[in-house]
Amino acid sequence: MALIVQKYGGTSVGSPERIKNVANRVAKWKAQGHDIVVVVSAMSGETNRLIALAKAVQATPDPRELDVIVSTGEQVTIGLLAMALKDIGIDARSYTGAQVRVLTDSTFTKARIQSIDDAAMRKDLNEGRVVIVAGFQGVDEEGNITTLGRGGSDTSGVALAAALKADECQIYTDVDGVYTTDPRIVPEARKLDRITFEEMLEMASLGSKILQIRSVEFAGKYKVKLRVLSSFQEDGEGTLITFEEDEKMEKAVISGIAFNRDEAKITIKGVPDKPGIAYQILGPVADANIDVDMIIQNVGEDGTTDFSFTVPRGEYAKAMGILEGVQSHIGSKSVIGDDKINKVSIVGVGMRSHCGVASTMFRTLAEEGINIQMISTSEIKISVVIDEKYLELAVRVLHKAFNLDQAA
Ligand code: ADP
Ligand code: ASP
Ligand code: MG
Repeated sequence: MALIVQKYGGTSVGSPERIKNVANRVAKWKAQGHDIVVVVSAMSGETNRLIALAKAVQATPDPRELDVIVSTGEQVTIGLLAMALKDIGIDARSYTGAQVRVLTDSTFTKARIQSIDDAAMRKDLNEGRVVIVAGFQGVDEEGNITTLGRGGSDTSGVALAAALKADECQIYTDVDGVYTTDPRIVPEARKLDRITFEEMLEMASLGSKILQIRSVEFAGKYKVKLRVLSSFQEDGEGTLITFEEDEKMEKAVISGIAFNRDEAKITIKGVPDKPGIAYQILGPVADANIDVDMIIQNVGEDGTTDFSFTVPRGEYAKAMGILEGVQSHIGSKSVIGDDKINKVSIVGVGMRSHCGVASTMFRTLAEEGINIQMISTSEIKISVVIDEKYLELAVRVLHKAFNLDQAA
């Protein structure tokens, strides 16, 4: 008998029929003698609908109130799933994040989990109930409802698994595992039976929407056994995220390709080339809680330099506003921006022991006439920024160039 946390995403609970299917799956695991905690997302499309509703009333929604609104999506699905389970004779109880007490900080719309009280869940499990928890949400010290950022139910699932010391966390979604890239873009993409934690962390941080980055971070920190599976298949092993490379791992140089459409680039031209400038530019951006991703500073010839960086597209207008204020202050020439860029990244632990990976990537893009605007690398990834209109082409040709459609 094991304690298993199962997380079901939006598509998996997207209709009453699908919720009943989830209930049947939960019942099957329960019948095998396991203790089950279920984390659910809102029905697919619901969070978008709620955000649009908020924006129809207030163009830039107040973050605290936005969290009050968007958290309701998950409150509906926990109740529905509890009813579906009771209907087939399984005792179950639903909880919002606040009722469990998933304690977070107060950064509305992207709060971080600080602790989880497992008392109520343990009591229910001991009494033979299935516990159902709303994903994506928590509560801060003052009792305000918070949410964890888009895709945050993954993080709720893994964090609950960590808090309960569960034997496994199963992420049920609309694909049967982690693929070499998004199968919606490249139909030849291949399911991986295993992926290392390091690679999964890179893929998620580079924009692969299959798992929210913080869920992978939690899995790493608390060594949660994490598996991605399909909620539409009866059987299947899905993809296991492993902490060690073992003999079962494929020996590919590149394991996957990630991309991020949610990027925008800002360049400050003609910045004086002297100490403290990077801080003067990025300090106010950080103070506004805007995440900066890639940063490039060119070496200038006339005592000035160009300074470029990328931010999430949703924060582009805000970041531009901040920099227009900073610009005159630091004596730069102008600020220009481009919110029609995307980032494409190749990821693989095999890169450590192979050379020529970058040149293959750059040659492949050059052959298609795709201009690279920015490059950044780490030991196991290479990322490039390109014009958004070439994104799908770039992902397809890179997938082919690195033979990702064939098993290594
Ligand atoms: P859920 O609602 O279940 O959380 P998401 O839409 O958040 O589902 O994530 C699943 C989707 O992630 C898939 O439908 C797929 O299009 C996308 N995806 C992106 N990259 C990958 C990848 N490398 N492997 C599998 N799916 C991926
Ligand atoms: N419902 C939230 C979202 O759409 C959280 C999630 O699905 O993981 O982002
Ligand atoms: Mg998701």
